[in-house]
Amino acid sequence: MNYYDFYYYSLCHVCKERINVKHCKKCKCVGYCSKEHQKLDWLMHKSICTAISLTRDSFNNKKIFSFQSWIEHRLKLHSKWRNILKRELLSYENQIWMFLPVCSICYSEDITVVCSECLNVYFCSKEHQEKFESCHERYCKELSLCMKTDVELFQIKQYPISKVASIPANYVGFPENNFEFLNCVLEENNKGITFQKDKELVLKYELIALSANILNTLRICKIIKERKIDKPEVVLHVVGACNTEITFDWGIISEVVFHYIINLVYLKVYLIGPTCNASLLECVDPLTYCCECINLERKVDVEVVQDLYHNAENNLRKPDFILLLNSGLHEFENQKDLDTWLPSISCLLKNVNVPILLTAYTKNEIIKDTNILKCSCDNLTFFLDCVENPFVNLRPFRDWNTENKPVFYFNNYITILKNANV
Ligand SMILES: [Zn+2]
Ligand SMILES: [Zn+2]
Ligand SMILES: [Zn+2]
Ligand SMILES: [Zn+2]
Ligand SMILES: [Zn+2]
Repeated sequence: MNYYDFYYYSLCHVCKERINVKHCKKCKCVGYCSKEHQKLDWLMHKSICTAISLTRDSFNNKKIFSFQSWIEHRLKLHSKWRNILKRELLSYENQIWMFLPVCSICYSEDITVVCSECLNVYFCSKEHQEKFESCHERYCKELSLCMKTDVELFQIKQYPISKVASIPANYVGFPENNFEFLNCVLEENNKGITFQKDKELVLKYELIALSANILNTLRICKIIKERKIDKPEVVLHVVGACNTEITFDWGIISEVVFHYIINLVYLKVYLIGPTCNASLLECVDPLTYCCECINLERKVDVEVVQDLYHNAENNLRKPDFILLLNSGLHEFENQKDLDTWLPSISCLLKNVNVPILLTAYTKNEIIKDTNILKCSCDNLTFFLDCVENPFVNLRPFRDWNTENKPVFYFNNYITILKNANV
């Protein structure tokens, strides 16, 4: 992770220090701890700084009265900045318009107060801070954790876990939630995790959360029975994958899966999506597995398929399990010409008796997404229907467009179903 991969108003953009941060005089959005760090960033900052200051006047003149108009205003800024720069914005530049520093009550840009706990909400006055307190209280800790986790990952450069524990052969249960799962698969000296979220724990779980969700689904669908499976190979289709899934640590994810499923030796993973960048896939090296996995010649094979599912599916091995992770099936629901999901959905529902795990950020989204599948097939069997996921990721992310809920979680809600038509 590089310093310019993310943006927080209250931190020095270069070193992520929080003390003595002064903001760029021209754009008033990006902060630095020192002249040196401002200089260091200037070449990169110049273009977005100009775009922000050129659009600042339109911002000043505009009165914003509601959260909805605040959303629309920022979307307009986004397209103006893109027009000025004549290119797509970088991810931290997107974060600037999404998390533009304004007073949480009146949207004024004259900020005089910042929440001293999370550094992530801003106010024009003490009065407005007090007015917002009851609304902010619930999320202050989580907003603070967002920032701490990003900074931690930036500073340590890699995830704080490297070895997966073996699971005793006589254990036939399954952890009930994400915390228990962590305790089950971490190396002995890491165990004893308490139900307290902190940045290190959040990152540890982020690394293996997908294995928890894979195993939980296979268990609920009775494909895994008493930690065994009918055949020693499993083929996964991750449909609508993007670069997030490609950069996962598939070595660790697969080893966790191998340790739980006693007789599994081969895992084939297809990451399928039109925006997938195959070059991001680092080689998955089974030599990092434990001795037992190496002796059993266990192997994961991850393949990136840069295409829409319905175009690619014919050339892939048939799936035992399909994953749709935070896929937003409903996003283009009413815009038929933009909706590439429809043909893909009928294609994935062709697979009879193959479980599908569907995940979403919010309850609302999982209901909409599930409905789309319900409308596409008459014979669906539901194992779980739009429920909260006990194996939800623990890492909060900032949400820019939901009023009164400034954070969201990956895989927060799930549906597990299959086409039971025989
Ligand atoms: Zn600095
Ligand atoms: Zn600037
Ligand atoms: Zn205000
Ligand atoms: Zn706060
Ligand atoms: Zn192993």
